[in-house]
Amino acid sequence: MPKATANDLPLNDRPMNDLPEVRVSARGAERLQGGHVWVYRSDLETKSEIPAGALVRVADHRGKPLGTALYSSASQIAIRMLSPGAVLQVELPVLLRQRIRAAVAYRKLVVHDTDAYRLIFSEADFLPGLIVDRYNDLLSVQFLTQAMDSAAVRETVLATLREELLPTAIIERVEARVRELEQLPQRESQLLQGTTSNTVFTMNGIQFHYDGLHGQKTGAFLDQRENYAAAAQYAHGEALDVFCYQGGFALHLAPKCSKVTGVDSSLPALEVAEENAKLNAQESSQEIEWMEANAFDLLKDYASAGHQYDTIVLDPPAFAKTKRDLAAAARGYKELNLRALKMLRPDGILVTCSCSYHVSEQELQDIVVAASLDARRTVRFLEKRVQAKDHPIMPTIPETAYLKALILQVV
Ligand code: SAH
Repeated sequence: MPKATANDLPLNDRPMNDLPEVRVSARGAERLQGGHVWVYRSDLETKSEIPAGALVRVADHRGKPLGTALYSSASQIAIRMLSPGAVLQVELPVLLRQRIRAAVAYRKLVVHDTDAYRLIFSEADFLPGLIVDRYNDLLSVQFLTQAMDSAAVRETVLATLREELLPTAIIERVEARVRELEQLPQRESQLLQGTTSNTVFTMNGIQFHYDGLHGQKTGAFLDQRENYAAAAQYAHGEALDVFCYQGGFALHLAPKCSKVTGVDSSLPALEVAEENAKLNAQESSQEIEWMEANAFDLLKDYASAGHQYDTIVLDPPAFAKTKRDLAAAARGYKELNLRALKMLRPDGILVTCSCSYHVSEQELQDIVVAASLDARRTVRFLEKRVQAKDHPIMPTIPETAYLKALILQVV
């Protein structure tokens, strides 16, 4: 976590500030010293009431200063660190501006061939509780914590985004459950600026419709952007994109394949997928078809009917939302991978993903290997991939690393 300013004074030399102090247990302090930025409520020593969303001084149980954080009075994550130094209340807007500019600068370094990407990824951009995605000329913003949702912080964030990116529209996306957990009053997703929530964005030369307010889920899976391009490198023949949503993988595979079938249980997602296919009709004259189906049923039926493919993508939703779901999730991943491997022709390509933070890369790999042994297929790893670099991974904050994409060849 960067210091608040380059010439930050050591905490003890700063003029005393009047921020509330929150003391954390030895375990909480250890977590922070290990580079994490969260302290759970169970690791707070201070029991007195701290205002919701306050900027707080953090100290260990003996009173030794540990830095400055944003406080939530509701979430189990009570503290999200902002700086290992001292930050005065009046300095907060300047700090937020600096961090937003740094996030924009980082994207200039790592983002290519797209006008849609994650601009701010919360803790991984030192802006805990703030997510901003860019879709061409639109920005989609999520204020996820009490502190980030305060009127003053919202105003600073929005003003800086306007200055830095000159968007034609800004959409605020709201998830009712997140606001409930933070005990924030409910709010609707809405346009904060501009007149339309629609645009078309282009990634890796493929165009997609985006509607920030309507449809079943607002937003694309930007974290798969680099994996789409990687998958397209190996894709060939007849392809099956399972859990295709609005066609992210399918449309990337189409120019390389003779036929692509996208499968999803959501009809609205498939309707957008079809519109997306039309947008790109010149690039891929190949046949693309969309099927509304339960992926588990379809793979079972197709595998037993002896269907064969040359390329299969499996990109299911997060099966393990919590650690408790792990065993069931592992069974789900195993079944999908087993059936897909059975259906691949020799030299076939399997792209298999998991976006469950709780399933590690090693666990996913073990599941796929076990499936290959059960299917009596020999596989070779072509690539072990993660989320795109606009969703940075912080090694000291394991929760920032969640997406795994393995690309295998069946030999
Ligand atoms: N591959 C997509 C993202 C997939 S997200 C992309 O790159 O854009 C997961 C998708 O799985 C969602 O679209 C959801 O509608 C779909 N889904 C969830 N459960 C399903 C099931 N049992 N069968 C088929 N699709 C399912």
